[in-house]
Amino acid sequence: MSKTFEIAVFHGDGIGPEIMAPTLDILRGISPDYDFNFVDCPAGAASYLDVGSDLPETSLAAARKADAILLSALGDPAVRYPDGTEMTPQIDIRIALDLYAGVRPVRIVPGMKTPLNLPEGKTVDFVLIRESTEGLFHTQGKGHVEADMAEETLRLTRRTTTKVCDFTFRLAQDRKAQGHRGRVTSVDKANVFRAFAFWREIFDDVARDYPDLTADHAYVDAMALWFVLKPWDWDVMVTENMFGDILSDLGAGLMGGLGMAPSADIGDDHAVFQPCHGSAPDIAGKGVANPFAMILSAGMMLDWLGRRHGVPAMIADAMRIQAAVDACLAAGEVTGDLGGSLDCRGAGAAVMARL
Ligand code: ATP
Ligand code: MG
Repeated sequence: MSKTFEIAVFHGDGIGPEIMAPTLDILRGISPDYDFNFVDCPAGAASYLDVGSDLPETSLAAARKADAILLSALGDPAVRYPDGTEMTPQIDIRIALDLYAGVRPVRIVPGMKTPLNLPEGKTVDFVLIRESTEGLFHTQGKGHVEADMAEETLRLTRRTTTKVCDFTFRLAQDRKAQGHRGRVTSVDKANVFRAFAFWREIFDDVARDYPDLTADHAYVDAMALWFVLKPWDWDVMVTENMFGDILSDLGAGLMGGLGMAPSADIGDDHAVFQPCHGSAPDIAGKGVANPFAMILSAGMMLDWLGRRHGVPAMIADAMRIQAAVDACLAAGEVTGDLGGSLDCRGAGAAVMARL
């Protein structure tokens, strides 16, 4: 009997529905061993205009109930709340479901438009974990502003810091089983801020539970430099919310832009898989969007579901999706942003053909 997984699908705004369509096609056809029941969840700008909410209670409830959540891109800078602020339903989901671990893989393979000049034989394949619920985003939208002074608060809790560090070490362990180095680096600013000394102490405590892995520390400013100068040197790193926000865009830049950057936001019981990019209203409706970041995010979903539910075929299929995208990149079967001539559907079909 094949297992059926319920997936909450946020088709989203802008290029969202365009990149979601080929992604769902790929998932539908990928395996006889398991199956999906896709549940459509309206949200974002279109939903706001339609029913007056950018994250309807029914959609959030469906997301809570599902085995996993697939999300393309929500929001449109042209559609705002009456007070002029932009909606951020994807952040609201992260907070509502306590998705503390933002997983941002950075892989550079032949065919990507990387600005780096990699030395012969060097490959880049690391994962940045961004704590996604606290840190410098603690007072997000509630900062204290006076006429001549403004103030925000950085908050780290022992509970969340422990969880996100533990998540990172477990990920490094899984990767070690696949041939990676088993190295975990804490990225912080412990030399200046006492809060980060607190973070580091917790990181070191968690590290003691994983004697088979190497644990070390780096300052965030140095890490920004090393992302560019020796990106092949890293395996898995974990950092605070704002540092992670900035470093993950730097990581996307190393991969030649947002069109190639997948992500996952993972908590104890729920996980959202979505590309790092936004709804790209400038190219929406033209059919030219690059679907690879969305497709790779769906691959990360298979890996997560496969490990969680003990379905090795899903873990293997996640690797097949990544290999298929790599093969398309190497063959130049890509969209215009990467210098190719395929449209969104064509690029999706190219991945499907490789599978
Ligand atoms: P958000 O605020 O939602 O993060 P953003 O302002 O960062 O959005 P994006 O929507 O990510 O902006 O778009 C940034 C630029 O990258 C735009 O020029 C857009 O066209 C381009 N872009 C983003 N995603 C893709 C994609 N999948 N394929 C091609 N181009 C893309
Ligand atoms: Mg952005």
